[in-house]
Amino acid sequence: MTLASTIRTIPDYPKPGIMFRDITTLLGDARAFRRAVDELVQPWAGTKIDKVAGMEARGFILGGAVAHQLSAGFVPVRKKGKLPHTTVSIAYSLEYGVDEMEVHEDAVVKGERVILVDDLIATGGTAEGAVKLLQKIGAEVIAACFVIDLPELGGAKKIEALGVPVRRLVSFE
Ligand code: 5GP
Repeated sequence: MTLASTIRTIPDYPKPGIMFRDITTLLGDARAFRRAVDELVQPWAGTKIDKVAGMEARGFILGGAVAHQLSAGFVPVRKKGKLPHTTVSIAYSLEYGVDEMEVHEDAVVKGERVILVDDLIATGGTAEGAVKLLQKIGAEVIAACFVIDLPELGGAKKIEALGVPVRRLVSFE
């Protein structure tokens, strides 16, 4: 079994011309889910990571499992208006237009070592926003980890240009 073989591709979703990489099939496969989490954390096994930050919504599933594996806390990065306490927000670019994401202002203590987790990096707009937001509240962002990279869209390069190493398990052209 390869991880790539457990990811389902849905053509023309959510709109014509898009090949959507569906990770629900990976998550539903016990061996694949465990392997993905094990491989994501492998560079940091035995090192001190204070928090794992996960992007709404698929990043919550993977990020929670990664946090457990590293004995770290978990920080949800959410779409605007979902978090109940005082938040810090940042605008980030989507394929068409901009949106805002938020974290609680006290989600990390200054200098804490944080890993960012999401299912997929495409243009990198979402991850770039999250890295900058976490840095804004004092995090030291150690790495950004994704199950899937779409290298043609240049997202991983954008994050590496911020000085944050990128870990990805599967690349699709
Ligand atoms: P980016 O901001 O890098 O262009 O897009 C990445 C974000 O969009 C991630 O939060 C990811 O969950 C979502 N995304 C974009 N395309 C896909 C896809 O084909 N499959 C999945 N699972 N998520 C996608």
